Amino acid sequence: MSFKKFCPKCGKETDKLVGNECLDCFLKKTKLFTIKSQKILVCKHCNKAIIKGHWEDLSENLIEGEVASKVKLNTDFNLEDYKVLVELQKMGADEYEALVKIKGFISGNLLEQEKIVWVSLKGTLCDSCMKLDAEYREAIIQLRGKDKEESEQMLKITLDLLNKEKAKDSLSGTSKIVELKTGFDLWIGSKKAAVKVSRYVAKLYSVKLKVSSKLIGEEKSGKRKYRFTFCVKL
Ligand SMILES: [Zn+2]
Ligand SMILES: [Zn+2]
Repeated sequence: MSFKKFCPKCGKETDKLVGNECLDCFLKKTKLFTIKSQKILVCKHCNKAIIKGHWEDLSENLIEGEVASKVKLNTDFNLEDYKVLVELQKMGADEYEALVKIKGFISGNLLEQEKIVWVSLKGTLCDSCMKLDAEYREAIIQLRGKDKEESEQMLKITLDLLNKEKAKDSLSGTSKIVELKTGFDLWIGSKKAAVKVSRYVAKLYSVKLKVSSKLIGEEKSGKRKYRFTFCVKL
C-alpha cells in the first residue's frame, strides 16, 4: 500500500511534485524561460538575412533557429535534457508569429511551457549587394535651384537631413549624386526617407513638391515595383 500525495496548494492528488507543489501550480507562477519579439534584417535584393553577423539565405528554418537561439532559460532551476521548439506562422508579408515551446526535466518531472512572440523582417541591403549595386535606388530627389549656388545650398540641406534619417535606416543615404546643369539628382535607397526629406525641403523653400513614378518591374509576388521621383523646383 502506498501513501497518496496531494498538492498542498490546489489539493490535487499527484506523485509529481516540484518542491512541494504540483507541476501545474509550479508552472503557474514560474517562467522556465524568457524570449522577446525578434527583428531580422533581410536584404531587399538577394533575400539573405543577417544572422549572428553572417548573411544567410532566408528560410523558415533559419528564422526558427534564430528565435530558438534567443531563448534565455531561467537559471533559478536546473532544467535538464531540455528541448526548444519553434513553430512559425506567417501573419503578413514581413511578419510571423512564433510559438516557442520548451520541454525539459526538473527533479525527474517532465515540464512544458510555451510563449508566443512576434518576428518581423526588416528590409535592408546586405554588404555585397550594397557594393555590387551602388546604384540601388527606390527614389530620386531632384533639387532644382534658380541658379547653381541655390542648388548647392539645397543639396547641403538635403544631405544633412538624409544623414539624420540614415542613423535610423541605412538605406536612407544617397547611393549617387548626379550633378546637372539644372541642379542635382540624389539617388536614395529608401522611398520613405525620400518622401520625408523632399517634403521638408519643399516646405522650407515654400514650393510644391512634384511627385512622379515609373514602373521598373515586378516583384516575385507579382506586385508592381515603381521608382518615385520627388522634385523640388524653385
Ligand atoms: Zn497544485
Ligand atoms: Zn543582398
